[in-house]
Amino acid sequence: MSAPAPRSGILDISPYVGGEAHAPGADRLIRLASNEGALGPSPRAMEAYQAAAAELHRYPDGGSTALRDGLARLYGLDAARIICGTGSDELLGLLTRAYAGPGDEVLYSAHGFLMYPISAMAVGAKPVAAPETGLKADVDALLAHVTERTKILFIANPNNPTGSFLTSDEMRRLHAGLPEHVVLVIDAAYAEYVDRPDYTAGEELVEEFGNVVMTRTFSKIYALGGLRLGWAYCPPAIADVLNRVRGPFNVNSAAQIAGVAAVEDTAFIEESRRHNDIWREWLTARLTELGLEVHPSIANFVLVSFATKSGSGQPGDGNQAAEAARQFLKARGILVRQMGGYGLPHCLRMSIGTEEEMRAVVDAVAAFLKG
Ligand code: PMP
Repeated sequence: MSAPAPRSGILDISPYVGGEAHAPGADRLIRLASNEGALGPSPRAMEAYQAAAAELHRYPDGGSTALRDGLARLYGLDAARIICGTGSDELLGLLTRAYAGPGDEVLYSAHGFLMYPISAMAVGAKPVAAPETGLKADVDALLAHVTERTKILFIANPNNPTGSFLTSDEMRRLHAGLPEHVVLVIDAAYAEYVDRPDYTAGEELVEEFGNVVMTRTFSKIYALGGLRLGWAYCPPAIADVLNRVRGPFNVNSAAQIAGVAAVEDTAFIEESRRHNDIWREWLTARLTELGLEVHPSIANFVLVSFATKSGSGQPGDGNQAAEAARQFLKARGILVRQMGGYGLPHCLRMSIGTEEEMRAVVDAVAAFLKG
């Protein structure tokens, strides 16, 4: 049976594979593969979600008004510039659809989030990856790859999967070097985990310039990934564009209601951030003691290299060591992510989980290394 061919380039896209939730044969499941908030959602968000069932026969508020107001209050922003979406993935896709098309280029940093090239290819634009220096976005390399066809520059800050970040000064320098026709999308999915004076999620750049957008998510510190909820902070003209291209009721009512309760529970978010700080430091120290190279992270995951665990030192051995470690952990019910799709096949990315989960993963890695 033959099927109609999709538009040229679509079949070049490798599908995004995420949300792995099976470890056949294991008697427990520890999910450290998707950077989900370790403590789960705020109890107030769960309660609100359950209460939302009473209104399931109603369409949601198409403008996500209460949620935008709640976000504006919490983060000190202008609600009129906030656009909500079904995960920040949707917003990245909508921005690409609205600003890029066939013949255009979408620029990102080499170890950037996979949805950037996927979103570009889905609209027929060319994804262009600028090289990094030391697993960190390189401002000069990014600027050197801007052409008159570049329509969007995506930069995750902090970046997934490297956990590195651009300082506020570096981000400002990146913006200053861009022509005005390029939309700079600062993907700040992990911003809530960061508490450093030299970091900004980028909201002040959005308010200052007409070509900067910041995207955020409820899937990480708010731990509501299952509800698919994200938001973008935009210059008014870009907010207007997103309102034209988004679906009329893109954010479901349960997500809106739970989202409002989640942002109001600031004590829970603070506790989640503290938990993350403690256990990221602990996990980094333990894995380093085991002789692994852990890339410094300011997010809720660490990137662990197995390049030095290759034995023979042959190129590619680190990849095999990482794959063997991933399988060893999976057989014990622990799911982590090998980063081949990001050009880092010798690395595993491990999310920060609960204390019990962190102790379990370190014990399992130690057992793997012992052979
Ligand atoms: N941006 C980055 C950098 C991410 O790591 C992720 C989640 N993996 C997303 C965006 C997408 O998040 P959401 O669940 O909001 O679609």
